[in-house]
Amino acid sequence: MNELQDQVALVTGAARGIGRTIALKFAENGAHLVLSDLDLAGAEGVAREIEALGRQAISVEADVSNLEQADQLVKRAIEHWGRIDILVNNAGITRDSSLIRMDESQWDMVIRVNLKGTFNCLKAATRPMMKQKKGRIINISSVVGVMGNAGQANYAASKAGVIGLTKSAAKELAGRNILVNAVAPGFIETEMTLALPEKIIENYKTLIPLQRLGRPEDVAEVCVFLAGPHSSYITGQVIHVDGGMVM
Ligand code: NAP
Repeated sequence: MNELQDQVALVTGAARGIGRTIALKFAENGAHLVLSDLDLAGAEGVAREIEALGRQAISVEADVSNLEQADQLVKRAIEHWGRIDILVNNAGITRDSSLIRMDESQWDMVIRVNLKGTFNCLKAATRPMMKQKKGRIINISSVVGVMGNAGQANYAASKAGVIGLTKSAAKELAGRNILVNAVAPGFIETEMTLALPEKIIENYKTLIPLQRLGRPEDVAEVCVFLAGPHSSYITGQVIHVDGGMVM
């Protein structure tokens, strides 16, 4: 259980949901953490959970959609830990609407946080990782970025963009021993999905061969694998964690 012993991992959107669970699993596996979120108090709460596991964590308030804040976040991580071994670009939002009703701000905001935010943090973390001559970057995409979804054109476009960004970065950075992969979760039980009406959740279950929603732990375990020593020959991949929806 110490696959990430003394590695330093930066997780965005770490105050709750999938990001929080990834951070806790990394800590259980021996990593120290930089927890970033808009919600600083939430991130600090997760830091206390990590400290209770005997690991260390710092919390940094940052809006990933802002390049300067992403740069400052990475700078803060380097000042504190001296390096970043693992970056998980997890922060993400939805602003659902039919295409016909979707206004420009809904489109722009989702692209800015989910796609540009991933670019911003990836760009900021790449420089120290290049100096270290090693690094792992895990971008959280979505089943919706692969299959599309009515009412989520903005979200689907952002998450498909994350896949293109992942593959391009993987090709550019492979020579520097920086591995870049994406994880595409299906429907996972978090505040993002549990806010949906029960009828819609039941309907989603009929689309999932494994007949249940996923748990944040299902995603976090795959992230541990992609960050750890057993995935050193894997880059540019999209790992689907969706109960078999995409196959
Ligand atoms: P969540 O419960 O809504 O948590 C997202 C976290 O990201 C929140 O703490 C949120 O902070 C933070 N955040 C939002 N905008 C941010 C920004 N601009 N800068 C920094 N942090 C920001 O979401 P989740 O369900 O855990 O999802 C995590 C990731 O998995 C997202 O990328 C999502 O698209 C992806 N995903 C989720 C599912 C699912 O079924 N849940 C499926 C596929 C993919 P605030 O609370 O302050 O807004």
